[in-house]
Amino acid sequence: MFNALVVSKDDESGKTSAAVTQIGLDALPQGEVTVSVAYSTVNYKDGLCIGPGAGLVRKYPHVPGIDFAGTVEESADARYKPGDKVVLTGWRVGEAHWGGYSQKARVKADWLVPLPEGLDARAAMAVGTAGLTAMLAVMALEDHGLQPGHGPVLVTGAAGGVGSVATAILANLGHEVAAVTGRPEQEAYLRELGASQIVARDELTEVTRKPLESEMWAGCVDAVAGAMLGRVLKQMKYGTSVAAIGLAGGAAIDGALITPFILRGVNLLGIDSVMQPYDNRLRAWQRIAADLPMDKLEAMVQPATLSDLPQLGADILKGQVKGRVVVDVNA
Ligand code: NDP
Repeated sequence: MFNALVVSKDDESGKTSAAVTQIGLDALPQGEVTVSVAYSTVNYKDGLCIGPGAGLVRKYPHVPGIDFAGTVEESADARYKPGDKVVLTGWRVGEAHWGGYSQKARVKADWLVPLPEGLDARAAMAVGTAGLTAMLAVMALEDHGLQPGHGPVLVTGAAGGVGSVATAILANLGHEVAAVTGRPEQEAYLRELGASQIVARDELTEVTRKPLESEMWAGCVDAVAGAMLGRVLKQMKYGTSVAAIGLAGGAAIDGALITPFILRGVNLLGIDSVMQPYDNRLRAWQRIAADLPMDKLEAMVQPATLSDLPQLGADILKGQVKGRVVVDVNA
């Protein structure tokens, strides 16, 4: 028997509740690889799945946790053997499939990535889906021509998970980073990660009908969308790109016009980490090991245990989690 955070649904009221529960190996779903999980983390989607599910969870009881890192315990797939260190993000694990808020997980071999040299399980979860997504965004901006020296790169939702890692990676690569936050008290934290400019969220949330604004940003990693993305697109320098990764401020792009695209050649690059092909995942994890300074990563970490998760899930949905939560599932 081992511990997992199990979310149950009351048939009558339709309400869900999450609690640390003892389960056995037979309860785990089908899959080729059984992993002894060491760490997991908390993403926005985890907040949804620990809570009412928001349509993401297929059936109850459910074990959330959209990412985890650990050691292979048993494998029916030739690519993995007991003792291998692995990381998993995406593939709807923790939503449609049981996830990482458990001391053991059983998954498809295709979903796993070997931990790259230089990254242990704890560091991998300090990075997590949020950090992988940040790196995929940086890689997409680079593929579209971004280089250090081109000018300030804007990171929105900067004190959040994706934003914190994007800030640290970009600064470490030699970019000037402008961090947008709605939490002025996080300024010292963001500067510590490498931001050289702090932009107040309020400066970018007013919807305007202007076709364009002054050219300011050489690139952008946007976790917010909503009115902010509508404004940012109009402030991009000629021929630059925005990597859109999230929707913390709304699913629409409020006040967006076609003008930045047709008058300034701005690109809007969509970033998805969930179904990302294996080769790109591997490349992104290797880039993380090379380009994300571990001391900066450590500064983002807030440790947690399985029993902290119901509260942390609620906090992340309110935008109140700073940086990266690392859940020690064995603590
Ligand atoms: P966090 O909650 O950690 O960070 C989001 C940040 O956005 C907050 O910390 C806050 O930053 C800012 N924010 C929150 N609400 C608002 C608002 N109403 N208006 C403006 N800014 C706001 O989440 P993550 O970093 O884990 O994820 C960010 C987004 O990316 C989510 O929408 C998530 O679903 C999505 N995502 C997408 C992935 C993909 O594959 N494309 C993968 C992972 C996440 P601050 O306090 O600094 O203002």
